[in-house]
Amino acid sequence: MPEIRKDPFTDEQVIIAMERAKRPTDFHDDGSNKEEKTCFFCRGREKLTPSETFRIDDDNGEWIVRSFPNKFPILCSDMTDGNGIHEVIVDNCGHDKSFFNMNIKEFKYMLLAYKNRYIALYNTASTQYVSVFKNYLKKAGASLDHPHSQIISLPIIPNIIMTELNNCKKFYEYRGEIMHQVLIREERDKGDRVIFETDNFIVIAPFASKYNYETQIIYKNKGLFQSMTDRIITELSEVFFGLFSRYGNVLGRFPFNLFLHAHPNLMEDAPYNWHLHITPRVSQQAGFELSTGIYVNDIPPEKAAKLLISAGH
Ligand SMILES: [Zn+2]
Ligand SMILES: [Zn+2]
Repeated sequence: MPEIRKDPFTDEQVIIAMERAKRPTDFHDDGSNKEEKTCFFCRGREKLTPSETFRIDDDNGEWIVRSFPNKFPILCSDMTDGNGIHEVIVDNCGHDKSFFNMNIKEFKYMLLAYKNRYIALYNTASTQYVSVFKNYLKKAGASLDHPHSQIISLPIIPNIIMTELNNCKKFYEYRGEIMHQVLIREERDKGDRVIFETDNFIVIAPFASKYNYETQIIYKNKGLFQSMTDRIITELSEVFFGLFSRYGNVLGRFPFNLFLHAHPNLMEDAPYNWHLHITPRVSQQAGFELSTGIYVNDIPPEKAAKLLISAGH
């Protein structure tokens, strides 16, 4: 029987339609841009991108990860509402690398770049919020195959973040506890949506998952994304590696979006835990979603979690 669920953080509604379960084989999607001839993001083509803002080199002085301003920015630096900076982070020098075949060290270099650019944009005048996200494969909005992420500083706080923060604030005033901490405790007690846990992170299939096989990586402690220590970054790299190995085992390679939700500028004390959303993109939003804002997900998160849990053994 279909079930209507509401996300306690975003207030978004979703219908979990149990009967319509999709076969995992529907996930396989090459979706590469076959027509792509010259890759601007490969080594040796550095002159084809705007000037570099950050890089990490290997022992031979060749870059492994690098970032630069986006040639086609969503925002620019002379808007009336304030400035916006839009950069591209090339996750890895390997053109055929992806989250499905990167190793822990490669994830770590990428995350070090995320942190470096996050701090730089966060500290830019008029920045209220920094958005970090990734589109993988065409179906998820990627225009280039070479593995890359994006980071944007915004002169406003996005509504979705404001809603999450307001719900967390209300919860904290009412219960005296951080909503994420209670969620972690309850999910742990229940157990059927927890995929795995490390010292500082928990990976869950959210109760009101909007997308098939959606997951969230939640930082279990108080603290800011930009304050991650080297040890925590290593641990998060292991989490990425563990999660995407499981994803690969269950579903193969598939289009997805990854995005960070973290504290806005000057709201560092908000009772909120930063987290990463991973949303596989196999189904398209259609008329019903557009007319009602209610998503339909035909794979219950409990089933998604079960498959991802057993894929780790
Ligand atoms: Zn390339
Ligand atoms: Zn969120």
